[in-house]
Amino acid sequence: MTATILNTIGNKQTAAHGDAWLNVLNPATGQCIARCPDSDEGDVESAVIAARKAFPHWSRLSNSERAGWLNKLADALEQNIESFALAETNNTGKPLALSRDTEMPRAVENLRFFAACASQFSSESHHGQAGWNVTTHSPLGIVACISPWNLPLYLFTWKIAPALAAGNCVIAKPSEITPMTAAMLGELAQKIGFPEGVLNIVHGLGHKVGQALVEHADVKAVSFTGSTAVGKKIAAHCGPALKKASLELGGKNPTIIFADAPRKNLIDTLIRSAFQNSGQICLCGSRILIEKSIYKEIRDAFVERAKHLRVGDPMDGKSQMGSMISKPHFDKVMSHIELARAEGGQLLCGGNAIAPSGRCEQGWFIAPTVFENLGPYTRSNQEEIFGPVVTLQAFEDETEAVALANASDYGLAASIWTGDIRRAHHVANAVECGIIWINTWLQRDLRTPFGGMKQSGLGREGGLDAMRFFTETKNICIDLG
Ligand code: NAD
Repeated sequence: MTATILNTIGNKQTAAHGDAWLNVLNPATGQCIARCPDSDEGDVESAVIAARKAFPHWSRLSNSERAGWLNKLADALEQNIESFALAETNNTGKPLALSRDTEMPRAVENLRFFAACASQFSSESHHGQAGWNVTTHSPLGIVACISPWNLPLYLFTWKIAPALAAGNCVIAKPSEITPMTAAMLGELAQKIGFPEGVLNIVHGLGHKVGQALVEHADVKAVSFTGSTAVGKKIAAHCGPALKKASLELGGKNPTIIFADAPRKNLIDTLIRSAFQNSGQICLCGSRILIEKSIYKEIRDAFVERAKHLRVGDPMDGKSQMGSMISKPHFDKVMSHIELARAEGGQLLCGGNAIAPSGRCEQGWFIAPTVFENLGPYTRSNQEEIFGPVVTLQAFEDETEAVALANASDYGLAASIWTGDIRRAHHVANAVECGIIWINTWLQRDLRTPFGGMKQSGLGREGGLDAMRFFTETKNICIDLG
């Protein structure tokens, strides 16, 4: 029997007003696990009405009261972490341990972190030269938070938490592919008595309900994470409307390994950065650049480990990788593997679909795949694949490493491996990415700015950047004459 999940509008669980539905699948089994509302602009209108009604009260609460609500939601989520992790895994095909031990705890942390931000975010004052200036940051009103399928609740909470902390009312649209945990969070908010109309969640298709949300005149800002193609559509609307937009988009991230790289944890981290969540993380390092003198050593050790990664049932504790998110995405990644072969890539491991026996035999699994012999301007090294497919390239020296790293339209993240702190600084400064890791990957301090350059986005999330995005800044100058 499949479950039915509903929109959360004004603290009520409702179907789409047109009574239309979308199937929600478990990609590890291919089975339908739920149906979710196929909402449209009428549902957006209902959510706007609820949010408009809620805004005066919510925005006037003290910061500590808003923080209190976020902490209450975090506590409730933490108490239910097992059921959320299970739902996330059933909806995404990612290993249960990844949902339970990494992503759900991070969702809790997002709520708590921005609860703390609510109480720490302050006005500034400047006095002296021209009177006494007080700079205030007030909530925008109703804001849209649109999130993708790869880290469903983790990225959903990363957006709604700062928006709420800053005093806005939210209309959030999770991916139609992975609506389960966001819907559960909506129910949980209702259960703990979250103020009505403050957190609204509408489910459905991007080009239908997502677009209606972006285009609604009462929606003052759009915080979007997803593909560059959709990000540009959103920018094309928000630009002329002079609507604030924060765009976290795709990546084709370089991992740069110098001969003096500390070997401790190197291969382990390379494997994680290439294949965690089956490579379906915007921050995954998909272009691995290795100094020539150690190319063979690193290649052989990396490929050996990749070959032995266990791909299979996400509910099996031994599985290190689960499935692709969907059949269309599986097809896309497989077509990129064919393209890499056609472009002259030398396949070092993987390259094939996997059909685990038992309940997952209809699921969409792909083996960890490594290619070499592909030039920097091949489509394989230019286009985001967003799967367990990486390429290896050799470089002669620092100059060539930087040139290869920057040979991309994207500029999200890079990791640099070296034992030389000066080189680390040089290269970090020269690489055109918004997030740089030295001798590590995916280590996150939530206070730091998060976002990409070039085709990877516009604006920054995290810490004060997020609080500033979700507020309007006003300067009040008082003449002390
Ligand atoms: P997507 O762009 O297809 O969809 C993202 C969200 O936007 C979904 O909720 C979708 O329904 C909605 N949407 C689609 N069309 C819309 C429209 N016209 N108007 C408004 N909303 C619309 O992306 P995806 O396939 O869900 O996610 C994968 C992409 O996300 C990859 O490119 C990945 O790199 C990127 N991503 C980026 C980051 C980051 O922080 N930079 C993080 C995670 C994922």
